[in-house]
Amino acid sequence: MCGIVGATAERRVAEILLEGLRRLEYRGYDSAGIAVLNDQGLQELRRVGKVQALAAAQEETGINGHVGIAHTRWATHGKVTKENAHPHVSSDTVAVVHNGIIENHEALRVRLQGLGYSFQSETDTEVICHLVHHELEKGHSLLDAVKATVKQLEGAYGTVIMDQREPGHLVIARSGSPLVIGLGIGENFVASDQLALLPVTREFMYLEEGDVASVTRTQIKVFDSNDKMVERQVHTSDLQYDAGGKGEYRHFMLKEIHEQPIAMRNTLEGRIDGDRIAIDAFGPQAEDIFKNIKHVQIIACGTSYHAGMVARYWLEQYAGVSCNVEIASEFRYRSSYVFPNSLFVTISQSGETADTLAALRLAKTLGYHASLTVCNVASSSMVRESDLAFLTKAGAEIGVASTKAFTTQLAGLLMLVAALGRANGVDASIEARISHALASLPNKLEEALNITAEIEALAEEFADKENSLFLGRGDQYPIAMEGALKLKEVSYIHAEAYAAGELKHGPLALIDAQMPVIVVAPNNELLEKLKSNVEEVRARGGIMYVFADKKAQFKSDDTMRVINLVHVDEIIAPILYTLPLQLLSYYVAIIKGTDVDQPRNLAKSVTVE
Ligand code: GLU
Repeated sequence: MCGIVGATAERRVAEILLEGLRRLEYRGYDSAGIAVLNDQGLQELRRVGKVQALAAAQEETGINGHVGIAHTRWATHGKVTKENAHPHVSSDTVAVVHNGIIENHEALRVRLQGLGYSFQSETDTEVICHLVHHELEKGHSLLDAVKATVKQLEGAYGTVIMDQREPGHLVIARSGSPLVIGLGIGENFVASDQLALLPVTREFMYLEEGDVASVTRTQIKVFDSNDKMVERQVHTSDLQYDAGGKGEYRHFMLKEIHEQPIAMRNTLEGRIDGDRIAIDAFGPQAEDIFKNIKHVQIIACGTSYHAGMVARYWLEQYAGVSCNVEIASEFRYRSSYVFPNSLFVTISQSGETADTLAALRLAKTLGYHASLTVCNVASSSMVRESDLAFLTKAGAEIGVASTKAFTTQLAGLLMLVAALGRANGVDASIEARISHALASLPNKLEEALNITAEIEALAEEFADKENSLFLGRGDQYPIAMEGALKLKEVSYIHAEAYAAGELKHGPLALIDAQMPVIVVAPNNELLEKLKSNVEEVRARGGIMYVFADKKAQFKSDDTMRVINLVHVDEIIAPILYTLPLQLLSYYVAIIKGTDVDQPRNLAKSVTVE
């Protein structure tokens, strides 16, 4: 969510800052800004809308300097206006960019107004620059002023601050929102995500919670939450930023949908071998930990939550362990019961999702046996803070609507089912079945993508609709939920998902010819039940689109369009059936002309509560 870039160098840094912002654009934002220090003092530029508008303004004005900070904002406090865009400035000398939310901003604002500060924005962020200025006025250095300021802040922040009196110096602080320092030669950089800095460095130092750091061209000093000077390890990143971007595809979302076979191959590589899966894919202590697990508590948000819901069906059916799944923002604010010998599992593409990370930190105080994260970013907070981690190797996911991260999460969770099943003494044939089904997946996903043209044609029928209903049963019910979420996210059509058996308990009242009903059909003992649900819709004049296994023998007619999918072992069907639903959302969005990769109001990695 939102982005921060900062640089201090001998060269002029505006282009580095703007390129960094471009690379964070995929996260979703509503406005952008930059501030630099030069002979004329502090200069800033802010624009509502895309980074391109900011870059054009920078080119026009020529504003530049050897030190600067930049930001893409995803508004939480205050409307999307130029005045509310970051950087915020106090007394023309102190400039601040901030990701996160300052929860006690109202009280701080009142206090600062009492001290004579006047506010130019409606944001919570603006209190930071005035607080720092106030501390500087007491005679503190910038570093000490920031240290004194963060003690007064409640909430979440990743923040970068500079002051005209100390040119060349950036002070940064992290609590709840990630920050990384990029090390150069005779120059240094900071960002909320290393992706932003890959054109200038591969050497990174990650700040930990509560850290404050001082960054100049030649020196980096990090202080922990006890104000003790600490060393933070330097990591060399081998992350690739695909600068060519979309390749032959029109959007990242379409590219990422089509990357699923290769993402799956990468995720599974070296992790399945014949009849067995490699338990150490979860970490060296996984085998020992799994032996003691009798219950799994899964916590996630959005699409990852749907992956968790599928895993619940799988775990209870195939691994013989009980499982609960809950949305992170609910879990973290209620008292919950901890079953003995429970494994706490978080699922997150970025590993920085604020609510999920907070839930993980809470769980550590509650007596869970161990924690595991299923995550796509090796350097993320969740990976670092969990006992075990399964890294999905989906590659960078740029489209805001998650696609390949979801299907690779499901593969990781299915491996967890096999691993816990083995540890629990379930019959080895289950692990063998999972292992072979997973091995077949990359090719099956490729085959599933062959129906792209058929789905593109189908999308025409949705473009003028305002509502839609998705139905599934069993482990396909969460896939129906994911399909509905995808359609909402990128096409802005209202979509609801129901377990098909729930139809007659309410939603049947909505059925008419204007309400398309999308059905994800399982090919198991629930099929006959689902067929009855389909008849219920048909009897009320509903129009249905059924995604079904060839062998399920659904037939197209006036009221029902059947889209046949390649036959797979039902255990991996939820993964396969996700693809046509992603494609449907994408093509409906194309017809509607929405901003597919950055849908309105949404952000990629939700690092605020
Ligand atoms: N809460 C701040 C604002 O609304 C920062 C939002 C962000 O993280 O971009 O300006």
